[in-house]
Amino acid sequence: MSPALHELAQLFPPSRLLHKPGELTPYESDALTAFRARPLAVVLPESHEEVVAAVRWCARHRIPYVARGSGTSLSGGSLPIDGGLLIGLNRMNKLLRLDPQERIAVVEPGFINLQVSNAAAPYGLYYAPDPSSQPVSTIGGNLAFNSGGAHCLKYGMTSNHVLAAKVVLPDGETVVLGSESLENTGPDWLGLFVGSEGLLGIATEITLRLLPKPETYHTVLAAYDSLEKAGDAVAAVVASGLLPGAMEIMDSLAIEAAEAAVKAGYPREARALLIVELEGETPQVEAEARYLDEVIRRSGAYEVRVAQSAEERLKIWKGRKAAFSAVGRLSPDYIVQDGVVPRSRLGQALAEIERLSARYGLRVANVFHAGDGNLHPLILYNGRVAGEFERAEELAGEILRLCVALGGSITGEHGVGMEKKAYMPEMFSEADLAAMRRIRLALDPLELSNRGKMFPGGEAPALHQAGPHPLERAGVISRE
Ligand SMILES: Cc1cc2nc3c(=O)[nH]c(=O)nc-3n(C[C@H](O)[C@H](O)[C@H](O)COP(=O)(O)OP(=O)(O)OC[C@H]3O[C@@H](n4cnc5c(N)ncnc54)[C@H](O)[C@@H]3O)c2cc1C
Repeated sequence: MSPALHELAQLFPPSRLLHKPGELTPYESDALTAFRARPLAVVLPESHEEVVAAVRWCARHRIPYVARGSGTSLSGGSLPIDGGLLIGLNRMNKLLRLDPQERIAVVEPGFINLQVSNAAAPYGLYYAPDPSSQPVSTIGGNLAFNSGGAHCLKYGMTSNHVLAAKVVLPDGETVVLGSESLENTGPDWLGLFVGSEGLLGIATEITLRLLPKPETYHTVLAAYDSLEKAGDAVAAVVASGLLPGAMEIMDSLAIEAAEAAVKAGYPREARALLIVELEGETPQVEAEARYLDEVIRRSGAYEVRVAQSAEERLKIWKGRKAAFSAVGRLSPDYIVQDGVVPRSRLGQALAEIERLSARYGLRVANVFHAGDGNLHPLILYNGRVAGEFERAEELAGEILRLCVALGGSITGEHGVGMEKKAYMPEMFSEADLAAMRRIRLALDPLELSNRGKMFPGGEAPALHQAGPHPLERAGVISRE
């Protein structure tokens, strides 16, 4: 054991300090399994103080580290750093406080998304952001990726539901960003932290906003003979002035996968399905439902079903929620891509993706949060066929460029991580990237926190620096 590791062993008991090869293997990758890296060690803190101790140890030994929740990142965001420390937060999974009067929940970072709604349910409350990974992903990971889900169209992303966070900065200092109140003064530090992909520090306590549960739902399943028509229907619903709780699209491959997995009863021959759900108080939902049904019929749907009971509604959603992972039944390997286009360009984007899929000779399944223009093309390939992974990656890149060209973004909710850092210059100028980097360096001059992620380029520039950092020389930062 090296002296540094020996020191770490004084901070964590053997059961919560993993460093033997067999112990490290499960942590070598996240949900983007195409990337693998071996950390020096994994620690499993159980308190804020232990996170501080781990981060201070990293700062002392200049060892980079990654915070990890459940490791469901699809962009390699929680991939360990070769020779770095992985700080696994799954054991910090307590609900610290739930105040139904104030409608807030205070949780540790390893608390699971769906558990927030489960805990709030007896009070008629729930937590709105609902990534499809909600039964397993943690609030810490959701916060770092500003995660979204089916209901973000109406309620916004994680950033709209986090009120405060206690954060361990890369030098081991603790700060509290935001407060329990909705109104704050000064710069929005919490806003800066949410979505920063673990590059600015580790959240150890998070205060969330809870909302009253909707009284009624009206769930419509519409079948189309083309993907483009379904995409255009989304624009038509939004243009009509309605604001559904969710609008989701699945294409024929996704339908096939969902049917094979959970038998949701979808029309199997459809080229595309649109799920639209209204929610809210009963009189309002009833009035809007009549209007929505009319808009959907006019959008060219050849079959329209309305859920007549809670069971039928759940069955419709079960298929949608299962579709993602069920695509694994259609292909040995697949890349999940995540981009955004303006809603009005959805039809065009989907038609173009179909064209690209034919040109590359690779099947692409689409299942996505259409309401916010968030695309999730799943590119199916066989890793055992020489060159197919590379072709799939190239196609994924083309789709991202398409999103940017149509006025969208290279990520909707899965983050930049390892996977998309090369595409950052497609969206941002050098000056933009330099400004982001200056913020990062102000907090983390050695770039220890999740080093190597999000910014384009192989290595962190700090690795090449000898002597004081330029910001230290300028008197902006110090190591004291
Ligand atoms: C089947 C499937 C479906 C998915 N569907 C969606 C979806 O609909 N919407 C969506 O947004 N995402 C989705 N995802 C992606 C993923 O689940 C989310 O990004 C989720 O927020 C990650 O949570 P996690 O706990 O697994 O975090 P990890 O993967 O462990 O970490 C993600 C990032 O957060 C950082 N991090 C973790 N904890 C902390 C902390 N306490 N403080 C600071 N940084 C931290 C990590 O360093 C990393 O950069 C899906 C993934 C899968 C596998």
